[in-house]
Amino acid sequence: MRYISTRGTAPVLTFEEAMMTGLARDGGLYVPESFPQFSADDIASMAGLTYEDIAFRVMKPFIGETFTDQEFKSLIAKAYAGFGHAARAPLVQLAPNHFLLELFHGPTLAFKDFAMQLIGQMMQAALARSGKRITIVGATSGDTGSAAMEAFRGLSNVDVFILFPHGRVSEVQRRQMTTPADANVHALAVDGDFDDCQAALKDMFNDFDFRDEVHLAGVNSINWGRVLAQVVYFFSSAVSLGAPHRKVSFTVPTGNFGDIFAGYVAKKMGLPIERLVVATNQNDILHRTLETGVQQKQGVTPSISPSMDIQVSSNFERALFDAYGRDGAVTAQAMADLKDKGVFTISQGAYDFLKDTFNSGRASEEETLATIGGQLDICGELLCPHSAVGVKVAQDFLGETPMITLATAHPAKFPDAVEQASGIRPPLPPRMADLYDRDERVTRVANDLPAIQAIIRERRAQ
Ligand SMILES: *Cc1c(COP(=O)(O)O)cnc(C)c1O
Repeated sequence: MRYISTRGTAPVLTFEEAMMTGLARDGGLYVPESFPQFSADDIASMAGLTYEDIAFRVMKPFIGETFTDQEFKSLIAKAYAGFGHAARAPLVQLAPNHFLLELFHGPTLAFKDFAMQLIGQMMQAALARSGKRITIVGATSGDTGSAAMEAFRGLSNVDVFILFPHGRVSEVQRRQMTTPADANVHALAVDGDFDDCQAALKDMFNDFDFRDEVHLAGVNSINWGRVLAQVVYFFSSAVSLGAPHRKVSFTVPTGNFGDIFAGYVAKKMGLPIERLVVATNQNDILHRTLETGVQQKQGVTPSISPSMDIQVSSNFERALFDAYGRDGAVTAQAMADLKDKGVFTISQGAYDFLKDTFNSGRASEEETLATIGGQLDICGELLCPHSAVGVKVAQDFLGETPMITLATAHPAKFPDAVEQASGIRPPLPPRMADLYDRDERVTRVANDLPAIQAIIRERRAQ
């Protein structure tokens, strides 16, 4: 399997290269040259398998020669061994034809663990083979940073530095980043906001001397390896509900479009999915795009579902590339317009494709809070605010076909909003109940590129 860029001019890469590279040199995102096809029999034969076995079957056609079967199975086993649920991604029922896919049983209680844990194992295995070391630097508004630190801590060929805005993440999120004791992971609290952290990260990638000196690598949500790992639970949950003999639909709380794009990939591979519903909070650029055919940036208004507070949705470019019949030049032009003018209009043909492929809806803050309280009354489930956005939007699409809404985080990760909505302050699961007692280790740093770079140079293992 070979990987091409959505902007058409970057080198064609193998799976290993695409995973290690992240963003393509032409500014595009890597996608597989074609989608492997699974027959109804292939899908039917997944019934009753473990999550790990389904993961192996689903991802195997994408990884080419990067790992032997034996090696790949063992990386998958290690990735999910630390999850707090034997099913890894269990389904619970909310209503007669509405199911919740709990993706929050990983070490940091959010769905990002599914991809990050696996990419940690895959990168370490590839690096150990080549004898190379890399420095991963990430910027986070909360969930990505802790998931990366948990995934890479203690791995011998990787140093991890996570920039987060000082004083602007929740206490649980901060503690998850400041309490891992391993010497190769470093939490940097930047005196600035999330945009400052992201800008510093971008500047580091554009500083080619620094980039080469520290062997800089990224694990943000545009990394193809992360998207791939997320395809698996679309299969595992659909098969549990009777696929391929019965169709299912999915509603996905969406920010950067990574998780919903993984659902699209599953559908392209042959999984019988009726609807893929994009659920946004009040920062609804994706919903507006699908309603109007025009993508227009607006400011970000902070919400109670902060992991979906985005101005630009980076993985949308992958869907756009397919909508434009995989024309890299047209995709590049649209992205340039978005960057320079803050807006672009999707051509009629591409818009028809997107309307056929995705549905969408948005939930206001009030609706999100009401959904958390309401679901507790109706079925006893306590939802995190992101999952509640999904459940609210899914209501408009319930019908004959079973609907699976993705629960992207554990309610205990967002205790203030959940308590406000339900009167219940959700406790952390017992396996991490001591989070508030663990020692914190964090370096406060000025919002200043040379200062941040100096810390990275000094702290990384040579
Ligand atoms: C990252 C995140 C999302 C959004 O996922 P995307 O793949 O960026 O669309 C939703 N909910 C939670 C809890 C997250 O951490």
